[in-house]
Amino acid sequence: MIPEIDVRTLTAKKISEGALAFSFAPEADLLEIPFVRFEGDVKAELTYRIFEDDSVEVAGKLSFALCGACSRCLKETRADLAGDVSGFFLPGESDGENYGYRFGKIDLTELLRDSLMFALPSRLLCDACTQWENE
Ligand SMILES: [Zn+2]
Repeated sequence: MIPEIDVRTLTAKKISEGALAFSFAPEADLLEIPFVRFEGDVKAELTYRIFEDDSVEVAGKLSFALCGACSRCLKETRADLAGDVSGFFLPGESDGENYGYRFGKIDLTELLRDSLMFALPSRLLCDACTQWENE
């Protein structure tokens, strides 16, 4: 489940930073490696900082596992992977470079999808094939 950041309520309570830890089900069609799937949920550990002009910086890490057929030898394998999350939210519409948010609440869905897409490898290799490629 992806939590919202309720900027309006936090600001009213004079809270300007915090941390979130949660996991969410990834969209399976983000992954384009043949015969490879997500193993379980994606874990997110984020921090946020609310600035005086109500812009909000969100940063942190994602971790997830992939399993399925090695892209080279087709042997069943799995890998633990991680990626960075970094986004800036402005009240109102997105300006193309930053994310927008409305009604005083930040929906993290798009940032998480973008971050996950960026963290995905183009293929999955088993240990033997990783070694073979590095020799
Ligand atoms: Zn292999």
